Amino acid sequence: MIIIMKAGSSDRQIEAVADKLKGMGMGAHVSRGIERTVIGAIGDEVRIDTEALEILPGVDSVVRVMKPYKIVSRISHPEDSVVDIRGVKLGGKQIQIIAGPCSVETQPQMDAAAAAVAAAGCRLMRGGAFKPRTSPYAFQGVGIQGLEMFRNAADKYKLPIVTELMDVRMLDTFLKHDVDVIQIGTRNMQNFDLLKEVGRIHKPVILKRGMAATISEWLMAAEYIAAGGNHNIIFCERGVRSFETYYRNMLDVTAIPVLKRETHLPVIVDPSHAGGKAWLVPALARAAVAAGADGLLIEVHPCPSEAWCDADQALNPQEIATLMGEMRDIARAIGREI
Ligand code: PEP
Ligand code: MN
Repeated sequence: MIIIMKAGSSDRQIEAVADKLKGMGMGAHVSRGIERTVIGAIGDEVRIDTEALEILPGVDSVVRVMKPYKIVSRISHPEDSVVDIRGVKLGGKQIQIIAGPCSVETQPQMDAAAAAVAAAGCRLMRGGAFKPRTSPYAFQGVGIQGLEMFRNAADKYKLPIVTELMDVRMLDTFLKHDVDVIQIGTRNMQNFDLLKEVGRIHKPVILKRGMAATISEWLMAAEYIAAGGNHNIIFCERGVRSFETYYRNMLDVTAIPVLKRETHLPVIVDPSHAGGKAWLVPALARAAVAAGADGLLIEVHPCPSEAWCDADQALNPQEIATLMGEMRDIARAIGREI
């Protein structure tokens, strides 16, 4: 951390900053220029509150040198991390497609969805038993029995399951049903108590980007999980709020290479909640693969027009099969595989 003093700051002010740093357990290296003095703070700056320094008399600005995130940062782990989901590797050469309905509805619906997902060649399945809905009067998910239906359907095809956890009180139930990947939804990206709890277990976690979160906030949210000891974290870009109303969310394709640079953890993309329309999903999915995503999370329903939730953005079994072929061609062109 570097503290830049105002032009004309006094020796007493400079000393006071150095003393404050020492009180914080940091060393201070003062270098006096002709006009300005800068003080280098030496030590672990992550725990230092810059505001406590900025407020001191004579201080012009405080600049962090280190990133505020440590464990998730690529600096701490230069190689790509691969998350192992019951033998399915996410983050390596192979791109993983996670497909399934927005929500678990009935056993026949889940059986048909699992059959379609497996037939298309996807290796993981998604489905929400607990749904975060904008309206309290909208369908909220079938709850615990949905986890059972999901397990039954997916186990027939040996597909690991991905499902959203909204409430810390449900964590034990998720573990009892041996949920393979816990999804933290966009609305909970900064639910820090939830993040701390999933940080204490070792199940892989998909951390969706908050709908108006900066990349730095998103990385810090992941750091909460990692700080608890769980490093099996997968970032999921699902589109951000923008001024545009034509589509549901604006897919931030730029975030893919940015995250791949900043973190060693896998990055996946959800083109369904970004586009919000089934016809937009293939184009966004292809763009995500081309931009370096390690996986995709795609809504697929055996009969989209009958879906209880997000009907207009679900692909049907034929559409996901076609899209898999298209994505496979793109993956091959960039030296990866699906
Ligand atoms: C979902 O994946 O079902 C979902 C609700 O997504 P998001 O949290 O991105 O809105
Ligand atoms: Mn949905």
